[in-house]
Amino acid sequence: MSGASGVRVLDAPRGAAAGETPEALLGALGGPALLRVRGRDRSRVRGVATLLHGNEPSGLRALHTWLREGEAPAVDLVCFVGAVAAALREPGFAHRMLPGRPDLNRCFVAHVAGAEGEVARDALRLFREARCEALVDLHNNTGHNPAYGVATSADAAVAGLTALFGERLIVSDLRLGTLTEATSGDFPSVTIECGRAADPAADRAALAGLRRYAALERLEACAENAPPLVVLERPVRVRARSEVRLAFGDAPVPGADLTLTRDIDRHNFELLPSGVAVGWVGPEASWPLEAHGGDGREVSRDWFTLRDGLLETQRAAVPIMMTVDMAVAKSDCLFYLVQRREGSAR
Ligand SMILES: [Zn+2]
Repeated sequence: MSGASGVRVLDAPRGAAAGETPEALLGALGGPALLRVRGRDRSRVRGVATLLHGNEPSGLRALHTWLREGEAPAVDLVCFVGAVAAALREPGFAHRMLPGRPDLNRCFVAHVAGAEGEVARDALRLFREARCEALVDLHNNTGHNPAYGVATSADAAVAGLTALFGERLIVSDLRLGTLTEATSGDFPSVTIECGRAADPAADRAALAGLRRYAALERLEACAENAPPLVVLERPVRVRARSEVRLAFGDAPVPGADLTLTRDIDRHNFELLPSGVAVGWVGPEASWPLEAHGGDGREVSRDWFTLRDGLLETQRAAVPIMMTVDMAVAKSDCLFYLVQRREGSAR
């Protein structure tokens, strides 16, 4: 049986049939697929999505291990594996998407032409037809991060899902076209950033969370024994302006318009007070940053200031997803700034 177009619907392989390795499982799938798993209670269904980005393998590794273990989930699961071709492209788990193609996790809200748009529409339809009671979408990022959730709200169900994986939740009003945004009106839906790709701690966080998600009889129970969540909100997306020559270093790099400190990603989830230097701006360079919040206004000068060639924070903020990966910094963004919600833990 298959979906109408880009996503094949298959009964999930269990035990040894899932293949020796995650790569073997992907090779057997051959393309985007929705894997169905029979649960103890067949009247309910939960959704899992993973590998929407081909270079973010923690969720797929967790799913592969869990399928091999063969444990029956509490309710039926439908597990979407997205960017299979990008993940299989040499040298393996190296490409976010196929070269020159759109980012699959930006194709779920507005109509996007081509194969990725078709896969996104198909996956969305299949999750809705399944009447999922919840969805978790497992990702990695490139900086030093603990596991955390990203969602459009912090209601009890979303907070509970997040607590299966980590202790922090970002409530985002940025609209990027993600699966989580598209399904937030259908059922509780959260993106889980499991940690840095290729970090064994990220793989462990993904597997531990997936096991809990699959085993729980009642989702309402997920928050009951969890520590209170830290809720961070109102993200501002900070990018280098497109013409900026960017570098990372321990001192200003000659010829660079903006040199960011090499260990910048150590500040993820720290409260940075005002007046903290994050980099150097070259003597000939113009203002190097642009920053946009959910309302679309350019606000970089509200957050940063230039003093004697040093780029400093202008007000206190918590940076997240800071990266020292040049490709990500150029193509996506440098980092996001968020605010701690009043009354949330710590
Ligand atoms: Zn991702």
